[in-house]
Amino acid sequence: MLNIVIFGAPGSGKGTQSERIVAKYGINHISTGDVLRAEIKAGTELGQTAKGYIDQGQLLPDNLIIDILASTLDGLKESKGVIFDGFPRTIAQAEALKKMLAERNQTVSVMLDLDVPEDELMHRLILRGQQSGRADDNEETIRKRLTVYHSQTAPLIDWYKQEGLYAHINGLGELDVITSDICQAIDKAVK
Ligand code: ADP
Repeated sequence: MLNIVIFGAPGSGKGTQSERIVAKYGINHISTGDVLRAEIKAGTELGQTAKGYIDQGQLLPDNLIIDILASTLDGLKESKGVIFDGFPRTIAQAEALKKMLAERNQTVSVMLDLDVPEDELMHRLILRGQQSGRADDNEETIRKRLTVYHSQTAPLIDWYKQEGLYAHINGLGELDVITSDICQAIDKAVK
């Protein structure tokens, strides 16, 4: 089983690179952001709750998102592995993921940290907001999400370093070069 955590600030390219990894390794993709946006679109109660947090640039409470992740994981059949995109975003979530996988006799294989400078992140997200109309890609909410990233999510870098699972990826430059760096890190991790 290949369990990959793709990590990085908003706008670092997690979604784009995840699609490429899925195509190459034939694993499943769980994007918590996509799961939540689908709930919002379907008008569910969970979607309504999620929208309140997302529009404010805040994270959902850990217990809620951990439950969502667990049931999404349970819904996968015959999986060769999973790329986790947008989860974990807090230390509590990382600990929950470790436990959840251990209960399935699995572990995280590698954590890929897509590293992109802050001014480039701002630029990409503002552009994405103009093109896709994603409600949380406006300048005010983007600034909040980046602050939340630094305070709540970035501490996971040291957490995964301590687990011996950390791989740094330069997220700036040609998409194909980034993909090939990612594949090298994955292949090295599972060798
Ligand atoms: P980004 O481009 O900011 O990485 P995502 O699509 O991954 O965006 O997530 C959008 C929003 O969904 C987040 O800003 C947050 O409100 C919520 N969300 C997604 N994943 C999580 C999570 N693991 N924990 C808490 N909230 C989450």
